[in-house]
Amino acid sequence: MTDHATTATVDQQILDSIERWVERELKPIAKKFDHADEYPEDIVEQMKELGLFGATILPEYGGLGLSATTYARIVMSIASVWMAPVGIFNSHLIMAACVQRHGTEAQKKKWLPRFASGELRGGIGLTEPNAGTDLQAIRTVARRDGDHYIINGTKTWITNGVYGGCFGVLVKTNPEAEPRHKGMAMFLCEKGEGFVAAKKIRKLGYKSIDSAELVFTDFRVPAEQLIGGIEGKGFQHAVGGLELGRINVAARGAGIAAGALRDALRYAQERQTFGKPIAQHQAIQLKLADMATRVEASRLLIEQAARKYDTGERCDLESSMAKLFASEAGLENSLEAMRIFGGYSYSTDFDVERYYRDAPLMCIGEGTNEMQRIIIARQLLERNPV
Ligand SMILES: Cc1cc2nc3c(=O)[nH]c(=O)nc-3n(C[C@H](O)[C@H](O)[C@H](O)COP(=O)(O)OP(=O)(O)OC[C@H]3O[C@@H](n4cnc5c(N)ncnc54)[C@H](O)[C@@H]3O)c2cc1C
Repeated sequence: MTDHATTATVDQQILDSIERWVERELKPIAKKFDHADEYPEDIVEQMKELGLFGATILPEYGGLGLSATTYARIVMSIASVWMAPVGIFNSHLIMAACVQRHGTEAQKKKWLPRFASGELRGGIGLTEPNAGTDLQAIRTVARRDGDHYIINGTKTWITNGVYGGCFGVLVKTNPEAEPRHKGMAMFLCEKGEGFVAAKKIRKLGYKSIDSAELVFTDFRVPAEQLIGGIEGKGFQHAVGGLELGRINVAARGAGIAAGALRDALRYAQERQTFGKPIAQHQAIQLKLADMATRVEASRLLIEQAARKYDTGERCDLESSMAKLFASEAGLENSLEAMRIFGGYSYSTDFDVERYYRDAPLMCIGEGTNEMQRIIIARQLLERNPV
């Protein structure tokens, strides 16, 4: 077998084992943990064993080194049953990707093996109370003090904020810099004195996974934890991971869309009205057809973006299109599933109410869909000048 064929076989085996795990372990507990808003400790341990915390980390640093294509398929498979656990390893992998792409060799050797094993887990701290989309407006400041920096500020909405131990944190080292991004830097910060999770945020959906406010009060971080070792690159480091991040959120949206379709397709054949299954009513058939088309279109857009990412081609346009379409597909399909389930959609005995609560986040995360449309339009104009 060629190297390429061997890699494809290994990737398929990993995907198969994840799909079996999803059915066996995740599906039976999703409802219970979601409703209790309880952190799934056992699932985290199982995800460690499956290698998910190192999914996209290179093998020389202890990871699986999966392609974006395989990673997206894994994400879709998990999200089709329960989207929230994806956030536990995905935000962590965005932090790892930042080190892998932009870190010094010493940083990669020190941190990536610990991230890959899941021994040290975390996420990415960009958003602040006053700044989400406009990231360059952040106020968290790091000031140099000998061989350390001292960080002060507050991050909010940070995934894994309570249970995570280490975060890629975007700060300003020069708040007066113009343009603003030239005064930004990204640090790896391990929790400790001066760096705490102050508040767990209560949410509509995306339950069981912790979203928290992180507070830095004269937090001393060694200068060697400045990612890449130089100031002024933090903004590029933060947005540099967005192509993969968008493919990822797209896969979560497509997963929710696929789960909603699967459940609706089944229910529509079981539920009878006027002497026949509701699937035999044309109004329901039209919904099922649109739902299935959205799932397939999402899948194709994601595969296209992931393929380009894997071959090192530019894919900002493609990943934005995939993210925009697939996240909206998740939202629309979850709503259509609610309609197909009728009154029972409102019951917590079924999963569709969870899809409906989880889906809107995909339209917000990794750049809101308003911003995706703006990125797509800008790219169209740039690639098609007259
Ligand atoms: C559950 C959850 C988990 C999250 N996890 C993380 C995390 O792990 N790490 C992290 O750093 N952040 C995280 N976030 C934050 C998320 O990235 C931000 O919420 C998102 O970037 C939007 O920022 P905002 O909420 O401040 O909205 P705003 O930036 O205030 O935007 C509000 C509205 O204005 C629109 N808008 C803003 N600017 C423009 C413009 N120029 N043109 C057109 N429309 C515009 C937006 O599209 C949106 O509709 C999370 C959020 C949630 C809800």
